[in-house]
Amino acid sequence: MINFHYVRASSITDAIGRMAADPGAKFIAGGTNLLDLMKEHVERPSQLIDISHLPLKRVEQTADGGVRIGALVPNTDLAYHPLIEARYPILSSALLAGASQQLRNMASVGGNLMQRTRCSYFYDTATPCNKREPNSGCSAIGGHNRGHAILGASESCIATHPSDMCVALAALDARVLLAGPSGERSMPISDFHRLPGDEPHRDNNLGPAEIITAVELPPRGFAAHSSYLKIRDRLSYAFALVSVAAALEMEGATIKEARLALGGVAHKPWRNADAEAALCGPAADGASFARAAEALLRGARGHAHNAFKIELARRAIVRTLMQAVRGTPQSQSNKKIA
Ligand SMILES: Cc1cc2nc3c(=O)[nH]c(=O)nc-3n(C[C@H](O)[C@H](O)[C@H](O)COP(=O)(O)OP(=O)(O)OC[C@H]3O[C@@H](n4cnc5c(N)ncnc54)[C@H](O)[C@@H]3O)c2cc1C
Ligand code: SF4
Repeated sequence: MINFHYVRASSITDAIGRMAADPGAKFIAGGTNLLDLMKEHVERPSQLIDISHLPLKRVEQTADGGVRIGALVPNTDLAYHPLIEARYPILSSALLAGASQQLRNMASVGGNLMQRTRCSYFYDTATPCNKREPNSGCSAIGGHNRGHAILGASESCIATHPSDMCVALAALDARVLLAGPSGERSMPISDFHRLPGDEPHRDNNLGPAEIITAVELPPRGFAAHSSYLKIRDRLSYAFALVSVAAALEMEGATIKEARLALGGVAHKPWRNADAEAALCGPAADGASFARAAEALLRGARGHAHNAFKIELARRAIVRTLMQAVRGTPQSQSNKKIA
């Protein structure tokens, strides 16, 4: 039995102050990841600071025509929000591809950004894991690594970030809004998550005692030509082996601007400017999609059990781009379960 304190934060300032006073504390929002980690003794917070009642549950238009999403908006509410369905359908699709209806009802936007890897060794305290215990070793490199990274991995860690939502946010160029002891700041989502390097225990660039307050989407949602494709072992309730978010701006049959992000393959959503540039200009066809896939997967490296992901990703990229050109979302958000 590991004892911990529980407190409900009364305001954002109160939450930050309590966290600054006790670096061993953790914020808890929906609890769908943190409580599992506590049950496995992977996370052992001295204190749970419950932020679930803070006023961060609004989805609202911003002055520049974008949308600001509070960090405590549940994944279900966000997926079915009229603004998101109409203007950012790729985000709805990605959210609905994640977890199960019950989990999405509880899971928050901030918690989804912060969720930890699903590497089974990370959850198993009987095995070495550099992410859980720095410098103890990586059991996955010589072990079972079917779900692990093919891009951006290091000699210390080959884990992936498991989120679907974040892959769509990466393609949309979202910004993450933070508040902390030194005030407020924001960063592009591409800077939020980190590659493992030799510090795999650091998943992201959140500073000490900082809290995520919101995510901001720029005005352009690529609603006419976007698609999210998730390849997994089961049709639902499974993490991505590979996922692709493709968002295109078309002029006739030509792509004017392209965004392409991969999930399930790296420690963060994976983008590459060369791959996106390769799509703009030439005919939007299988040959140019294959070239873009080649560029996006440059440097991909498989391990004993996951080399299949490289070809899987190549094919998934081409298929998602075809769907995006045709304006076919992979999963639609008009099937709300009451
Ligand atoms: C069985 C199962 C299947 C799943 N399948 C998928 C899937 O297919 N795709 C997918 O994307 N996800 C999946 N998930 C993960 C799920 O989306 C996350 O667990 C959820 O989004 C976490 O949100 P939460 O509010 O419950 O976070 P919590 O569990 O409350 O917190 C998670 C972490 O985030 C921190 N945190 C929470 N809010 C903030 C904040 N505002 N600022 C700073 N830190 C914060 C907490 O301190 C904690 O460290 C699955 C989860 C489960 C249990
Ligand atoms: S891949 Fe990363 S999370 Fe998994 S065992 Fe290795 S160090 Fe731990």
